[in-house]
Amino acid sequence: MAPCKQGLGQFESGSRMSNPDKGINVTFWGVRGSTPVPGPDTARYGGNTPCVEVRAGDSIFILDAGTGIQAFGRNYRTKTDKPVKLHLFLTHTHWDHIQGLPFFQLAYDPRNEIHIVGPKREGTALLDCLERQMLPPNFPVPFSLLQGVKSVTELSSGDSLQVGDATIHVAALNHPNESMGFRIEYGDRSLAYCLDHEHGGVDDIHPGVETLAKGADMLVFDAAYTDEEYPSFKGWGHSTWQEGYKTARELDVRILALAGFNPGVVDADLDLIKAEVDALDGETVIATEGSSMAL
Ligand SMILES: [Zn+2]
Repeated sequence: MAPCKQGLGQFESGSRMSNPDKGINVTFWGVRGSTPVPGPDTARYGGNTPCVEVRAGDSIFILDAGTGIQAFGRNYRTKTDKPVKLHLFLTHTHWDHIQGLPFFQLAYDPRNEIHIVGPKREGTALLDCLERQMLPPNFPVPFSLLQGVKSVTELSSGDSLQVGDATIHVAALNHPNESMGFRIEYGDRSLAYCLDHEHGGVDDIHPGVETLAKGADMLVFDAAYTDEEYPSFKGWGHSTWQEGYKTARELDVRILALAGFNPGVVDADLDLIKAEVDALDGETVIATEGSSMAL
């Protein structure tokens, strides 16, 4: 998908200039939850399932492998044919967070060095979860042909990982079958990624979210619903943009990026949410496919 001019303009309005040597750059490639929803009603904000590209110095981090990861791969290849080294962090293995992997062309190139990191859970290894979605007769190409994938590593809540000059912290979130959020720290910048996650009670911020997002330059938050819609979906593992806003303000987050929209949410709905958050204090953006932001 071509970069969204609207999103680029929106994101370039950041209130603090980035330090190019010590900054984090973020690009959204998929902002939908549950299932891709391409079509004219979702063309402006985008219809792909979750994928976020984070650049921190020479390191490339990809957060989730929804269908948006295909657009990342195509974009990367338009700029260079050199081998790529990247870390792919998976919040969990619900289909919408891994379904782009079988179509991620960079993963088939043996010259590449792709390290997959995801949650450790009892019973089923992360590698097994990834292999299973590519088993016949549901899919003709086995995971073993993803020869650019050089490692699959499991992490648990509370673990941290050093990649280059960046540090990544992980914490469990509130989601059926468990989801894991990430905080990427680089220089004096930080980004917290909390998809998929359902908020708790009133004024009750989940400890995992608090650990990851406190004082972050950006929080990417699960805004599947509005507060008005939420009662019909309570217990489904997703939150609302209003809960994201409260969380961001409470935790002194500089920029809140709303993402993970429910499939029924169309561009016109997101325009209404954008108008509401624009009228509020603080900086809140609607994550938009192809849009980039320097933190
Ligand atoms: Zn999920």
